[in-house]
Amino acid sequence: MPSYKAPLRDIQFVTNDLLNFSEHYKNLTTDVELDQQMQSAILEEAAKFSENVISPLNAVGDQHGCKWSADGVTTPPGFKAAYQQYCEGGWPSLAMPEQYGGQGLPESLNVMVSELVCSGSVAWSGYPGLREGAIKTLVSYGNENLKNTFLPNLVSGKWTGTMCLTESHCGTDLGQLKTKATPITDNEYSLSGTKIFISCGEHDMAENIVHIVLARLPDAPKGTAGISLFVVPKFLVNEDGSLGARNPVNCGSIEHKMGVHGFVTCVMNFDGAKGYLIGQPNKGLEAMFTFMNSARLTTALQGLVHSEVAYQGALPYAKERLAMRSLSGVKNPDGPADPIIVHPDVRRMLLTIKSFAEGFRAFAYYVAQQLDLSDHGQSEQQRSQAKNLLALLTPICKGFMTELGCEAAHHGVQVFGGHGYIKEWGMEQNQRDSRISTLYEGTTGIQALDLIGRKVLGSKGALLTNFSDIILAFCKSQESNPQMAEFIEPLKQSTIDWLNLANKIGKSATTDADELGAASVDFLMFSGYTILAYFWARMASVSLHKLESTTDDRDFYNSKINTARFYFQRILPRTATLKLTIQSGAQNLMAMDSEHF
Ligand SMILES: Cc1cc2nc3c(=O)[nH]c(=O)nc-3n(C[C@H](O)[C@H](O)[C@H](O)COP(=O)(O)OP(=O)(O)OC[C@H]3O[C@@H](n4cnc5c(N)ncnc54)[C@H](O)[C@@H]3O)c2cc1C
Repeated sequence: MPSYKAPLRDIQFVTNDLLNFSEHYKNLTTDVELDQQMQSAILEEAAKFSENVISPLNAVGDQHGCKWSADGVTTPPGFKAAYQQYCEGGWPSLAMPEQYGGQGLPESLNVMVSELVCSGSVAWSGYPGLREGAIKTLVSYGNENLKNTFLPNLVSGKWTGTMCLTESHCGTDLGQLKTKATPITDNEYSLSGTKIFISCGEHDMAENIVHIVLARLPDAPKGTAGISLFVVPKFLVNEDGSLGARNPVNCGSIEHKMGVHGFVTCVMNFDGAKGYLIGQPNKGLEAMFTFMNSARLTTALQGLVHSEVAYQGALPYAKERLAMRSLSGVKNPDGPADPIIVHPDVRRMLLTIKSFAEGFRAFAYYVAQQLDLSDHGQSEQQRSQAKNLLALLTPICKGFMTELGCEAAHHGVQVFGGHGYIKEWGMEQNQRDSRISTLYEGTTGIQALDLIGRKVLGSKGALLTNFSDIILAFCKSQESNPQMAEFIEPLKQSTIDWLNLANKIGKSATTDADELGAASVDFLMFSGYTILAYFWARMASVSLHKLESTTDDRDFYNSKINTARFYFQRILPRTATLKLTIQSGAQNLMAMDSEHF
């Protein structure tokens, strides 16, 4: 079983050399001062916690899973104690509002800590993770009473949170949901209905669970225009803040699933459970988007995590495992065979995983900077620019990074040969655990529709042009550098193709709306490959500069340039196929009647 080692050197490269976080922090309007040194110290502590406390629980969680009985859900051995330690260390409140007991540090720092914690165990990290979306929703839409009642204990981690959207007949199409909310008094409602697939719906890790629930009021219009949002605690809260009566919201059973066994997935029955309205009646879906966008970015990080875990497992194995001789001559004459890392195909897999993991880190941390700026940018113009970038990048980050995270996990197994299929090496768990990431928080198909429909065409191309201008400005700034030409030419071409494809899809959708859906996932993947090329080109540029200006760490910077080259020559060309499939249109998908499939 591989033990996780936090990639602090790479994180330092992205935060210091690539994205200049110390300057970024100075530009925020937050009161809390944070510099590079403090950031490093916090990340080192988070790394220790993840390596020593969380990572050892990863296989335990997979093997034991969660157990359900009439008394509730028991999490795997060690999960609860680790959660207590996590709370005692102050980790839950890191980037939370000071007004409710948080430390007020930037959200980007929380993203970095989340990467480390999630890499230790994706399953464990879900419990504190969902709480964050509940907090953000209450901060944005809750009234003062709800905020004061629920936020302090959610912020400290004493209570955890859930998001209750899905019902057995609808997950994507929430307009169909049936859970009812009947008014009891002006601000109290009685909720009845059944939700399924509710992550962390019931468990033994915290004393109370705060459910954020979508339901319909009695007079609500049909469809998404008639959905309201409620907060429904497992235990009601007395006026003095102490826990009151048990609310009738109970776990009816738990799912037996492919992966993330330590992360409980519950059927939740609301039998007249008391709840409180969040925001305006019938505007619940809008408020829920705060939760969903937060959860989408957390899920996107899982793509990075599964790639990093696959790389950390596969690389040492490829150096040690002996099989056959190198095609270009013996490399290990004293041994019975050469290590498999000499074989081009094994290198192809390792470099694919590496280019995803390191590229995703750059992409995710850039998005994390936009999260900071959208709330704490110096000017309205800076804040709205960050919001525009987030609107475009969130579905790409979620859809693209999780799809490729699954691919990376698959290569992780493959590098091990048959041993990858065996539990002891952890690679098959990584692959099983990765699979959910493309499904929950909106499937890849739904992220793709959001991207092309709402974000790109919905803004008449403005959101896309806004970001492509940033890429093209970077290309221009590198024009005079011949060492960068191998990256800049294809990046520029891919960006222009990206704009043209969006234009073409928009035009064909005016005559046939299915053209939009037919192109959507390929367009999302095209977008992701182009964006990753932008970050790899930037990483190459920084590394070339470092090689000229310092004698330190030459291997590290050369490795970055080699990986950038690999990405541009072997991964970015996938866009050529995507361009063709996008241009092939909807007919090849829609020509057959459903009954003739
Ligand atoms: C382990 C796990 C944890 C989960 N945690 C939570 C949770 O905490 N809270 C919660 O509320 N839910 C949760 N879910 C539910 C999850 O978010 C849904 O399963 C997911 O959103 C998909 O919904 P569905 O399963 O109903 O699939 P469907 O909506 O039935 O979709 C089936 C397929 O059709 C596609 N599809 C549907 N509509 C369209 C369209 N218009 N265009 C193109 N393709 C379309 C989808 O992409 C998918 O491939 C969880 C699920 C799992 C398995």
